Amino acid sequence: MRTFTFERALTADDAAAAARRHSGSRFIAGGTNLLDLMKLDIERPAHLIDINRIGLDQIEATADGGLRIGALVRNSDLAADARIRNDYPLLARAILAGASAQLRNKATTGGNLLQRTRCYYFYDTTKPCNKRDPGSGCAALSGFNRAHAIFGASDQCIAVHPSDMAVALRALDARIETISSSGERRQIPIADFHRLPGATPHVETVLAPGELITHVTLPQPIGGVQLYRKVRDRASYAFALVSVAVVLVKEGKVVRQARLAFGGVAHQPWRVEAAERHLINTDAGHDARATAATAVLAGAHGRGHNDFKIPLLRRTIEATLAQAASS
Ligand code: SF4
Repeated sequence: MRTFTFERALTADDAAAAARRHSGSRFIAGGTNLLDLMKLDIERPAHLIDINRIGLDQIEATADGGLRIGALVRNSDLAADARIRNDYPLLARAILAGASAQLRNKATTGGNLLQRTRCYYFYDTTKPCNKRDPGSGCAALSGFNRAHAIFGASDQCIAVHPSDMAVALRALDARIETISSSGERRQIPIADFHRLPGATPHVETVLAPGELITHVTLPQPIGGVQLYRKVRDRASYAFALVSVAVVLVKEGKVVRQARLAFGGVAHQPWRVEAAERHLINTDAGHDARATAATAVLAGAHGRGHNDFKIPLLRRTIEATLAQAASS
């Protein structure tokens, strides 16, 4: 581990100002991913800014009936909050599908969005990786790519985003609030937050250097049946091979609103609005489910070892929709 300097911020403005003073600094909260990456010499911040005491650990109601979640709300607290469990059950289910209880007790809302891929070659510093060392190549393209992307990949990187929480936030149309190192605040729709790898896989979000996530805002609840199904190699403490978030808002048996988002399949939480439209004004019966799944998979592309994800995702979509239709 390399030497670094450290300071503790007491407000979000302090943290932003510290980032402005120290180029190459990183914010640290739960540290559940960053510390491992520092020990492996993959992340090399010269300066760490501890943001655990800046006070963004509350969940507040918004004027339009939604919720504003502080970036430092721990994953466990978020999943256990009665408003989340009752009004956004998809989010509670997705969080509880991720990591372990110990990690969820430390990991924060902001950090969960910023966690880095679990591509094996990213963590193996003897192998080329464009994300870790831009321009070095991608060992996964011709290597063992069982866990890798079937959507939105590039010839520079085929990694996936590991978060379950982000998949639910994508389905729920969350917005991410930030403060820049110069103190400017902005809101970013989650659809625009995570980048596809393209030619710069080391640039994973639209955040500028030193920009800090302060809150995640949920719009008014949409109700309906909300399910999150995660398929993985073991029952806990494993990342998704594929995951499916489904929201069906029905009048009687007729679907009036549908949301479909996916994890384990792309460099960002993946959503296919065109597929959702195939479910509207149907009873989400067998044919509608099959048509929606076909629309999701229209752009899927396997890389060899991960070809199985395409039929697996189809079966998981159809099964989760069937469960939602009959609930
Ligand atoms: Fe690196 Fe991405 Fe290739 Fe994995 S898939 S080795 S993270 S460039």
